[in-house]
Amino acid sequence: MTQAADAHLTPARRQYLDLKAQYPPDTLLLYRMGDFYETFDDDARRMAEALHITLTSREFGRGVRVPMAGIPHHALNGYLGRLLGQGFKVAICEQLSEPGRGIVDRGVVRVITPGTVSQPELLRPVENSYLAAVCQIKETLALAHVDVTTGEFAAIQHSGTDAVAALEAELARIGPAECLLPASMSGLPYRGTLTVLDDQCFEPERAAELLKRRLRVTSLEAFGCIDAPAIVAAAGAVVAYLERTAPELLNLLSGFQTYTASHYLALDPQTRRDLDLLRGARSGSVRGGLLAVLDQTATAMGSRLLRRFLGQPLLDVAAIEARLDAVSALVADAPRRRRLRTAIERLADAERLTGRICQGTATARDLHALTIVLRRVPTLLQELDALPALQALASELDPLPEAVDLIERAITDADGRLIRHGFHAELDALLNSVQSAQRTLLDLERQERERTGIRSLKVGYTRVFGYYIEITRPNLHLVPSEYRHKQTLANATRFTTPELRAFEEIILHAEEGAAELEEQIFAGILRELAGRSGRLLRTAAAIALLDVYLSLAEVAVRRGYVRPQLDGSLSIEINAGRHPVVENVLPAGDFIANDCALDGNGCQIALITGPNMAGKSTYLRQIALCTILAQIGSFVPASAARIGVVDRIFTRIGAQDDISAGHSTFLIEMIETATILRHATRRSLVLLDEVGRGTGTQDGLAIAQAVVEFLHHHVGARTLFATHFHELIQLSESLPRLRAFNVAAVEEAGRLIFLHRVQPGGSDRSYGVQVARLAGIPPIVAARAEELLRNADRQRPADSYISNSEPLQAPGFAAELAALDVLRMSPLEAQARLFELQQQAERLQSPIGHQPSARPEAPDSLPEPFVYQTAETEPAFLRPLERAKLVAER
Ligand code: ADP
Repeated sequence: MTQAADAHLTPARRQYLDLKAQYPPDTLLLYRMGDFYETFDDDARRMAEALHITLTSREFGRGVRVPMAGIPHHALNGYLGRLLGQGFKVAICEQLSEPGRGIVDRGVVRVITPGTVSQPELLRPVENSYLAAVCQIKETLALAHVDVTTGEFAAIQHSGTDAVAALEAELARIGPAECLLPASMSGLPYRGTLTVLDDQCFEPERAAELLKRRLRVTSLEAFGCIDAPAIVAAAGAVVAYLERTAPELLNLLSGFQTYTASHYLALDPQTRRDLDLLRGARSGSVRGGLLAVLDQTATAMGSRLLRRFLGQPLLDVAAIEARLDAVSALVADAPRRRRLRTAIERLADAERLTGRICQGTATARDLHALTIVLRRVPTLLQELDALPALQALASELDPLPEAVDLIERAITDADGRLIRHGFHAELDALLNSVQSAQRTLLDLERQERERTGIRSLKVGYTRVFGYYIEITRPNLHLVPSEYRHKQTLANATRFTTPELRAFEEIILHAEEGAAELEEQIFAGILRELAGRSGRLLRTAAAIALLDVYLSLAEVAVRRGYVRPQLDGSLSIEINAGRHPVVENVLPAGDFIANDCALDGNGCQIALITGPNMAGKSTYLRQIALCTILAQIGSFVPASAARIGVVDRIFTRIGAQDDISAGHSTFLIEMIETATILRHATRRSLVLLDEVGRGTGTQDGLAIAQAVVEFLHHHVGARTLFATHFHELIQLSESLPRLRAFNVAAVEEAGRLIFLHRVQPGGSDRSYGVQVARLAGIPPIVAARAEELLRNADRQRPADSYISNSEPLQAPGFAAELAALDVLRMSPLEAQARLFELQQQAERLQSPIGHQPSARPEAPDSLPEPFVYQTAETEPAFLRPLERAKLVAER
């Protein structure tokens, strides 16, 4: 703004514009004016809309009227929470001098962004709050994240063709409140608050120096990122941003960790949603999610850790077994479990408390809460002593007696004072002088009563008016002449004297000094405790882990879960499995348990048919959920389970329109299916529900069949494929590792009854009309539909199998052959392709139902040779574990 243009502005307006210009335009500047925080111009418009408050305007100088919206100062925290929740960044500008003549001095005292909030009242206790940074160096994408309340600081990098998808999945898992991004990078797959920083902040060498300085190390080698400039750059940007916006949070950073995705079961964002891990995708409520069923934790830190467990199921059998051992030990000992639970119940959030200690914002009450936590540690250790499976956890628990002693010796629990008498001699001396001055005041009161003869004369104190002598109205004629008037009340008048003023001076001065000294001593104690933050955090983490184990054990006992067996096989064998969330909402005993016997070498693909509402999706999901539960180290809702560790779960469930992204349902369905086909491995678990539904029947059927075949021949992943295309059942005759199942329903007296029982074989009917009837379609419409169906049945040729459907006919076959780049194929690939084409040709000659008798050999291009088992040698649906027993008995 030019001098001339701003000449007619009021000083307040000019001050506002100057301050506003110091922060990025997207930061709301809350400008304190008296009892309100005001916003102006565009900020006002944005805030009024976000908070549903009135947008007004205000005149700032002649002819300058600007939009304005304000919030009362006492309600700041509530509004701040809402603003941050909506992704706003906020700069809070306070009045720094007392209002008087001229303009009040103002300055920004803090900037709060969604990722740098650390005030407990603005945070959700059971969720971590992460600030993240993403950057790209050549082909490598890195993501660093820090929880500014606990100091957890880590980073991961991805490269190769799938780097973007992997980054997206990791961002979805972490769910940062705010993500930093270099200005030169765009198109981040993340919808939360983005903060764009100068590319300089991401410069690897600068970042490395900054990290070393902040983490107080001379080399980054121990953090595993010496050859990972992208990781260093992302982590450095996080630190640079904290330095600028919230330097007090930097003290929290004590370590840093580089991790890789290869240790965890991969779940992409869609799969997390489809499986309702944290909340029910359809209802959006927490109650509809798996977490709500599992979460019987007693502390906020335990609840946060359980959430992280669910986000990162493990792959390492030994690590999973170690968790299961701990849960088992607690399941087996109910009295001890209850005692441990009681011991940790209502313990404070020691993790975030330590965070506040490091930031210097902890209160006396926080420190007392911390001593309660630490004093509980010996009890925990004593209880854990009898449980060998929990010894690793116990060894992390540290009672920190010297910290407890320091806090208890130093901090009072009385209101008003911070530091206990006897802790600090200088403070005691100051406080003594205050007390003796106060005693002298009592003497003064007595003296004055005697001198004036007013028996009701009182010496008192108010914060605003200071010390006074109060004389009731009837005695006013007795007031000595040297009394100076101070304040008139209804029934009394207050005075002061030179002597009283002198005392006041001494007392206030000493009190001020004492308060200041107290603050200093308190800050010193916080620093001393911060020096032990590593031990405090390890102890807090161990309590959180114990809380999670106790919760998992409690749920296992209450809901009748069993310990799963885990191994490196390709099996998923579940006896009498249940859906943990659905069984929870149904009346006890109403959920029908079902078995599952998937095996990459035997029943690799289960093709499941059955009418709508029969329970197909529920069945698919329950198997994935059992797998996830097993791999986080939880017991599972079943009577027995053996899980060959799954590396990744893919889902393609239901037709969810993503109209906002401008994609048709069918396109989305195909994009998701393509991702699965490209990325699934033999170790993966694939759930496909109604693939091909979004397009015409012929297309849909052809696509569904082609997808099944591809999974069978090329991927080898354990697959559950729910479909309403009954025609696909025939595939069980040509694909040796595919079995057909159906979810039973029976018609009784014209009513459809769902048995929810998964049984071998395909279902012959879809009962669509019956389901429509159940849904309340007018009877006349249903009757007409039935009539049409009967007519259609009469017209259908006897042998209308899929092989007659169009997309599989010769032209597609020739085109495929023509497209082969024969010269570049390896002999193995060529052999595999030839085998496939031969199969297709065979199918073109005879319908699927009448397959050639010879079973195909395994194509050599598969990663490991498949063991082919025919349907004849494999009794289709005997409970797997019972079968094992049978074999053993024989
Ligand atoms: P589909 O995918 O076949 O259309 P869903 O899996 O959505 O069917 O199940 C429909 C409803 O049936 C569910 O909401 C649930 O209430 C009930 N249900 C599903 N499976 C079971 C079961 N095993 N036992 C009892 N009720 C079930």
